[in-house]
Amino acid sequence: MLQTTVVPDTTVVPGHADGPEDWLARHGGELPVLFFCLAALSARHDRFRRGFPGAVTYAVKANPDEAVIARLGAEGMPAFDVASPAEIALVRRLCPSAALHYHNPVRSRGEIRAGLAAGVASWSVDDSRELEKLVAEGVGPGAEIAVRLKLPVAGAAYDFGSKFGAPPELAEALLRRAAATGARVSMTFHVGTQCADPAAWTAYMEACADIVRRTGLRLARLNVGGGFPSGRDGGDPALEPIFAAVARGLSRFERPPELVCEPGRGLVADAMAYAVRVKARRGAALYLNDGIYGGLSECPSIGVPRVDLVTDDGRATGPAQPFTLFGPTCDSLDRLPGETRLAGCVAEGDWLLFRSAGAYLNGVTTMFNGYGTREQASVGRLWTDPCHPLG
Ligand SMILES: *Cc1c(COP(=O)(O)O)cnc(C)c1O
Repeated sequence: MLQTTVVPDTTVVPGHADGPEDWLARHGGELPVLFFCLAALSARHDRFRRGFPGAVTYAVKANPDEAVIARLGAEGMPAFDVASPAEIALVRRLCPSAALHYHNPVRSRGEIRAGLAAGVASWSVDDSRELEKLVAEGVGPGAEIAVRLKLPVAGAAYDFGSKFGAPPELAEALLRRAAATGARVSMTFHVGTQCADPAAWTAYMEACADIVRRTGLRLARLNVGGGFPSGRDGGDPALEPIFAAVARGLSRFERPPELVCEPGRGLVADAMAYAVRVKARRGAALYLNDGIYGGLSECPSIGVPRVDLVTDDGRATGPAQPFTLFGPTCDSLDRLPGETRLAGCVAEGDWLLFRSAGAYLNGVTTMFNGYGTREQASVGRLWTDPCHPLG
């Protein structure tokens, strides 16, 4: 009876729902709904391509939905950042001519062989043993090896450097060793996700330029990673100041490398919104039909995005009050952090519409306690507020 519908086009049929509120009023039922606006995805892709001073690629893990990958591929995406043989197979199937950047710096030997068989163009490394593994498996002349740097910089929603990346001295040694294999040498970094501070990119680019200068090598490319912010707070994310900082950072290099970025969140998050239904209200507590084991799994680590209340009877919204939001499972951890301000009239049957749901929602949902199924609907627009234009 309840099924997932993916409608991979954005044509708004007259009389057909054109936004999430209309769709929910007509079709809303028992399941949460992921609203997908392909026009918003294309607009954001254009904004990156017009503003970023280099090649724009896409980090598949942010949203591996086939409609997303196919759309970006159809728009000429030159390369995808992949982290596993399954992601490699997905991109090869949907976008056979795009290049593969295998930028998960820890790979088993079997994973390296799968990457070689698929013709991976670029490999990131942050450790000598991992580099020797690549060399032993035959990665060398003809491939690009990108040394991943880590610095203690702040500004992101959480720190990617705690897991991956080589500190500057090791990065320098890795660059020399990578050059000795005959590979094209590049550098890469990831400032941390949802990073709104252009200074993080500047700091990384300066450090990369210093390291490269010490080696005397010529860097083929500099991949400034992902980390670009989405409009989680309901505003328009400030991408252009970051693009400008990256363009300025290039002047630090004696021989400027080609630039690449590999956004995940910044490219896809704002193309989707997630509607979750209120199953019950008890005072200032709301019990929802999805939570941290499902589509809202990122909330405990980076907070709750802007939430709008959608009522089916157009009730006046009234003054906002703080609410505690619980997910549907019988597990007391299934609760969103802090309190969320919503109109005091919120009631059973209403919907909460979460912004920036296009990243780290598809692909990270579990079926814990029997929850985790959702509907997906294509809409012609996500928002009515003028402060949030497409893209
Ligand atoms: C996850 C990831 C990205 C994308 O990060 P966002 O914060 O979503 O932009 C880019 N590059 C690598 C290597 C990643 O692991």
